[in-house]
Parts: sequence; C-alpha cells; structure tokens
Amino acid sequence: MTLCSSDILIIGAGPVGLTLAGELLRYGVSCRVIEKRVEPATSSRALGTHARTQEVFMAMGIFDEIRSHAQPVHRFDMYERGERLGSFDLPLESFGTPATSSLFIGQATTERILREHVLSLGGCIEDGVELVSFTQHPDHVSVTLRDDQEQEQHLSVSWLVGCDGGHSAVRKHLQLPFEGAADETWLVVDAQVEWNLPNDAIQMFRSPDGVVMAFPFPEAGKWRLLETNIPEPLNETTVARVLTDKIGRTLNRPITVHVPSWMSRFTIQQRKVLTMSVRRCFLAGDAAHVHSPASGQGLNTGIQDAYNLAWKLALVVQGKARESLLASYTLEREPIAAHLLRSALLSTRLISPRNPLVKYAGSVMKQVLRFEPLRHAISLRITRGMTALTISYPHSPIVGENWMSRSGRRSFFLNANHYFSPGFAPGSRVPDMLIDRGAGTHLFDYLQRTYFTLLLFTGKNASDEVYEALKEIIATISERYGDTIAVLVVSSSKLVVPSILEQQAEVIRDLEVTMHRRFGIMGNGVYLIRPDGYVGYRGQPVASDALFNYIEAFLVPGTAPHTERFIENY
Ligand SMILES: Cc1cc2nc3c(=O)[nH]c(=O)nc-3n(C[C@H](O)[C@H](O)[C@H](O)COP(=O)(O)OP(=O)(O)OC[C@H]3O[C@@H](n4cnc5c(N)ncnc54)[C@H](O)[C@@H]3O)c2cc1C
Repeated sequence: MTLCSSDILIIGAGPVGLTLAGELLRYGVSCRVIEKRVEPATSSRALGTHARTQEVFMAMGIFDEIRSHAQPVHRFDMYERGERLGSFDLPLESFGTPATSSLFIGQATTERILREHVLSLGGCIEDGVELVSFTQHPDHVSVTLRDDQEQEQHLSVSWLVGCDGGHSAVRKHLQLPFEGAADETWLVVDAQVEWNLPNDAIQMFRSPDGVVMAFPFPEAGKWRLLETNIPEPLNETTVARVLTDKIGRTLNRPITVHVPSWMSRFTIQQRKVLTMSVRRCFLAGDAAHVHSPASGQGLNTGIQDAYNLAWKLALVVQGKARESLLASYTLEREPIAAHLLRSALLSTRLISPRNPLVKYAGSVMKQVLRFEPLRHAISLRITRGMTALTISYPHSPIVGENWMSRSGRRSFFLNANHYFSPGFAPGSRVPDMLIDRGAGTHLFDYLQRTYFTLLLFTGKNASDEVYEALKEIIATISERYGDTIAVLVVSSSKLVVPSILEQQAEVIRDLEVTMHRRFGIMGNGVYLIRPDGYVGYRGQPVASDALFNYIEAFLVPGTAPHTERFIENY
C-alpha cells in the first residue's frame, strides 16, 4: 500500500471523488484518494455534461480537454408516427454562461481526464485500496483501510469524504438511512445505429409501445438508447431487432440498430440521505443521492457537490475559515438533491409506459411546438432543469445582504428586491457577462479563481466620502484577508479614480453603467462573490460594518500556516 499522507481522505475515485481531489489541489491542499477498483471503470454510464458542470471544468482548467472528446448537443428532436413533431432547443445565451451546448462524452473518458488532472497536480490516487471502517473523534477520524493484498492500514485524518457511489460504505458506517424507493426497470443500450438523424440532438421516439430515447456519443454512429419497455427474451440480438423495428416504425423508414456493445437492465432508484455531513465526515455524489437517469443529472450534481465542498474544506484546512463554514455544505446541497429527486421523478413519468397519459403526450407536444412562445418557454424550462445554472442557495447560513433606501431608511413596504433590481440575490449564481468589449474581457475571467472576489461599485458620481470608505475597505481587506479576498473596483465615474484605489485593487471601467445596472446598484454598493461563483453578500450603499460582520462570521483574519496531519500507525 502506498503511503500518501494528508489531512483529507477521499473514498472513491469516481468522477465526484476525482473532482473534489482536483479542486482541493487547485487550492493548494493535498488529499489522499483511495479506490477499491484495481483498474479504472471502462463502461460508459453518464454521457451528458451540462452547462454548470462545464463551468466547473473551466475553473478546473480541464474544459478544453473535455470538449475535444465530446459531442455537442443543442436540442431535443421528437418523432411520432413517421412525423417529426419538432424540437426543444437549449437557449443557453439567456443564462449568461460561456457554455454553448451540452457536451456528450462517455463517463470513462471524463474519469480518465479527471484522473490525469489530479495526477498532474501532484495528487495521490491509490487503486486497489478499500475503506474497511472508521470512527469519529472530536478532532480526527481514525480509519482502517485494506489493500488488494489483504494488508490493513490504520491511520488518522482530520476529514473524510465518502464519494464512494450508491452503495457507499461511508454512508452505511454513518448509519444514515438512504430514504426513497425503487421505481421502474429500464434498459440502456450502447450500439452503432444506421440512420440519417443529426447527432447534435437528443432524439425521442414516441410510439404506442412506449418511448425510446437516443443520446449521441462522440464516436461516429454510436448512440446510447434508453428503452422504457424491456424486450423479451433479453439478449443482444433480440434487443437490436426490437429497437430496429420500433424506431423504424416511428420514423416510418428503415434503420438499423446493431448488436449492442454494452447494455444494462437497471431498476431506477430514487433515494437520498437527510444530511450530507456528520461532524468530520461528508458524503458527495451518488453516495448521498441517486435518481432516475431520465434527468441525466447523476454525474453533474455529484460534481457540483464536490465543487461546493472543495473551497470550504480547503479554506478550513488552510486555517483561513472557521470550521463552522463546513456546516453550510449539507444545508446548501441537500435541498438541491431533494429538488432533483422530485424533478427526476417527473422526467421519468413523462416517458414512463406506466403513465396512461403518455400516449396523449405526442399530440399535446405537436400543438405546443407549433406555438412559438410556448415552445420557447418550455425550452427555457428544460434548459433550467438540465443545466443547473439557476440553482441557488437562498436559505444558506453563509449568504446575506444589507440595504438602505436613498433616504437612509428602510421602507416597510419594500424589500431588498426593490433596491437591487434586477441584481443577483444572495446565494444565487453570478452569470458571466462581457465587461470590456474592446479587450473581450468577461466577468468570469475574474471570478473563476480560488478566492472570494469583492466587487466595489463606485456609482456615477462618487463623492470623496465614498472613495474614502472604499479605500478603508480595501486597506482592511488587504491587511486581514489579503490571500482570501481579491478586490475589484467597478467604477462608472467619468472622473479619474483616486490613484490609491488603482494601486490597491484592479479597476473595471463601467462607464455605461452596464455592470452597475445588472447588479442592481443604483449608487455605490458591494457584492462579495464566493470562490464557487455564488453571491455571498451584497449591500448598498456600502456599509463597511455590515460587510465585515458578514466576513468575520466565517473567515479568519490573517493567514494561518497550512498544517498537515501525518499518517499515524497504531
Ligand atoms: C447504467 C448507468 C447509466 C447512467 N447514466 C447516466 C446519465 O446518463 N447521466 C448522468 O448524469 N448519470 C448517469 N448515471 C449515473 C452516474 O454514472 C453517477 O451519478 C456517477 O457515476 C456518480 O459518480 P460518483 O463518483 O458519485 O460515484 P461512482 O461513479 O459510483 O464512483 C464511486 C467510486 O467509489 C469506489 N468505491 C466504492 N466503495 C469503496 C470503498 N469502500 N473503498 C474505496 N473505494 C470505493 C467505487 O469503486 C467507484 O469507483 C448512470 C449510471 C449507470 C450505472
């Protein structure tokens, strides 16, 4: 057994464990990943990588590699009784994201890219090593591992993260019930298909015998087929013949589904835990929630769990944040899993052969698709659900705001939304936007980093008093939180920004007040954007007391040395 030492032990080198490891390493925090398999998994499983996950991959620096191996998908096409009913597209341009499509890529390739990324950052992945048991103590977790030579190792870590999939040993040791139920049994098939359908779309075939969905692989002619009725007898030849007949009849022309290269009959599980953390242990990905593949969200949601946890864990291990910050992980992500289970169930029912209304869905869809405003509204809704771009954490304990009317008083009748209109609410994702047309600079160029970004908006006619307040904020930030918070001054003043501000912070010229307007800042104001790109805090006008009260609640002033706990054999 290799002896990698770290404060953080990640169980499972699936996509979620590898994302967490890659992110911790990007923050400069080492971790140890153990994986019970001796060889990486080769089956395709998850295919769709949606917009929010692509943003995560951009921040990680692996997006180009992922994209170069992926098939872009822009829409859903639907067929019934020999007719193309129409399409729902993915209007991503409405969501302020650099992603331009969904990317379809086999999970084995995604895992390979993630694994290479972790190794390139000096990460440690030990294959053939399994978690056997662990016990939590007030300041550490004692763990027993076993390798494929049956050798046991005992060690102590500060934090343990179970990214060990649907049958999670970590979840079982924590005695967390996996609440939910088994649902229908479906079939997934990977096969070469001969037809003349475009491969930049998900294809849906509706027939009296049920629904078949087809998802493109990047490899020419290869498709993932999802069949909601299991053919009998269940063997490769029958499956190929049944799918050929069924899809051919729906398209009203001959097609050929070849003998599958892989197929799996699976029972949909819709389950989740009630909490994703217990003291020093966390769960992420399938270990915490599993759901119907109809929504294509398993891998995506798990990667976003890891992205949410990584920055919090990194700052705590580095001594830059209080341990209480970690409590926000489950409070933010568990409601997302709960929502996902509900929406995945709905997606399942929409194509389930057991749903008596499904047979009418085609004619309803045909009418909807003819009425452009309705088609567009549904396209937006599908895009919202699929991309996870509008997920937000409004009830998180680590988001907040402070606002006053221009008269300096709060109106009984108005709430924050009136003062930040439109703006971005605490806990919501900040979209990307062009901030300098000439230079082609985007907001994400500043945000996808490993620290908070404090946006200080000057307003159009900033007084000396305002500049003085901003100057003091910048000085305090640099003195106390210099390595955790970067400051960006967003100036809409036509006058020269006082040089002291220019010396201490980057300045974005917002002469057309576009950024001020989009952030809902009428005069001067402040937004603190978290490392994961969500609004932590906003305030207008600038009130430094409120801002620092917020920051001090979970960040530690000054930089504590990064401490590592070494392996203890006992
Ligand atoms: C047939 C199929 C089709 C799917 N289709 C889609 C899809 O279209 N879209 C989508 O988003 N999702 C899909 N999924 C789900 C997706 O594959 C999962 O959501 C994703 O793999 C979850 O990643 P994970 O890292 O949480 O868990 P996993 O991928 O399960 O990885 C967990 C890892 O932990 C390791 N491990 C387990 N126990 C231990 C232990 N005790 N010690 C050490 N290591 C351990 C395992 O060997 C494994 O490598 C599909 C899944 C299947 C099976």
